[in-house]
Amino acid sequence: MEASKNSSGAGPGGARKAIRAAETMKRIMAGHFEGLERAARDGGRKVAWCTSVGPAELLRSMDFEVFFPENHAAMIGAQRTAADFIPAANAAGYSPDICSYLTSDVGAFLKGATPLEKAYGIKSVPRPDVLVYNTNQCRDVQEWFSFYARRFGVPLLGVTPPRSIGEVTPVFIADVAFQLKNLVGPLESVSGAKFDLDRLRETLKLSLDATLLWEDVLNLGKVIPSPLTFFDAAVHMGPIVVLRGLKSAVDYYQELKAEMQARVRDGIAAVEGEAVRLYWEGMPVWGKLRPLSELLQRLKACVNASTYCNSWVFPDFDPFQPWESMAYAYTKIFIARDETFKEEYIAGLAREFGIDGIIFHEAKTCPNNSNTRYGMPQRLKSVRGIPSVVISGDLNDLRCYSEEQSETKIEAFIEQLSGRTERGGAR
Ligand code: SF4
Repeated sequence: MEASKNSSGAGPGGARKAIRAAETMKRIMAGHFEGLERAARDGGRKVAWCTSVGPAELLRSMDFEVFFPENHAAMIGAQRTAADFIPAANAAGYSPDICSYLTSDVGAFLKGATPLEKAYGIKSVPRPDVLVYNTNQCRDVQEWFSFYARRFGVPLLGVTPPRSIGEVTPVFIADVAFQLKNLVGPLESVSGAKFDLDRLRETLKLSLDATLLWEDVLNLGKVIPSPLTFFDAAVHMGPIVVLRGLKSAVDYYQELKAEMQARVRDGIAAVEGEAVRLYWEGMPVWGKLRPLSELLQRLKACVNASTYCNSWVFPDFDPFQPWESMAYAYTKIFIARDETFKEEYIAGLAREFGIDGIIFHEAKTCPNNSNTRYGMPQRLKSVRGIPSVVISGDLNDLRCYSEEQSETKIEAFIEQLSGRTERGGAR
């Protein structure tokens, strides 16, 4: 998770323009991991492991330190060490075809390694006291957390909402709210503290404030030229994933928003001479953020919208109806919806963000977040006139990604789009 060292913002040679708030982000993320390490070492506060769209607010309100294995796995991807670890998980029976977050994280654990060491000097993941998942995103997280529950001999708790849904009905919300409330008793047994509804409301309010600020930041991508790219957002989404429910996330996104607003005021473009605007659909290729970003900078193409970074925008959190609003917010997420909803959502964002075309990333080991497999690119083109290109790759397993092939495809796509925008076609 790197940022350009060029503080002038000039971004020579295709480098990403530096964002000053990155320093604050590094500090608060380091503080987060040090807090986890302290809790695990001293046995003070209990440690809960949570999925990235799991009930973090509930856990924080019950005074747990919260660790997110997906964030940990993305760090492995960003450090480009997944291939060192995946075979160890394969040898333990976890298929090369399943989520490479899971296999690289489990493999790293089996080999006694962690990306936290290189990033923060922390030698191991914090031992969990409880593991809490939400299968709203996929079933892999359940299997992933089950592995650790067996290894550590600690309780495994979960919420299993409906998936592939169109409308989020009151029945679904009641079901998920019921499941969330049912976590309280077992969590009290682990933490030894009583659940406090007011604490949950306060935590949810902090989460709401942070998520709305994050949404504001992403929405600045609608400005022409855009002050930020998907690659910036993929780096700066760290706090909304791992620190939501804490004041530090609210403060951080205030700072980031102010910096991006200043860019808009001063006419500073994230991509010098922005000529083409793109939508990134699917997971990031974590180990290739920099070369992809640099390629697109050179081509004067700005990826100013994505589904992925919007996945942590939860405007429906309501501190006055904490259970129902959490149930609704965590069940209505994009990844849990049917094709009709997804098509409408992508087309809507493409319109709002003035998109010329879409780059679909088909991630080999994450069918859940690859929307290329049931005719979506073709429908968006034929019904809505939105062109796209599909690149094959993976979130972590770079053996599934051909840099040369992807770059050639992207270059050809942008050339084609540039012709359209010059002729005034797409926008
Ligand atoms: S959504 Fe995809 S990347 Fe995320 S945990 Fe599930 S399979 Fe892995």
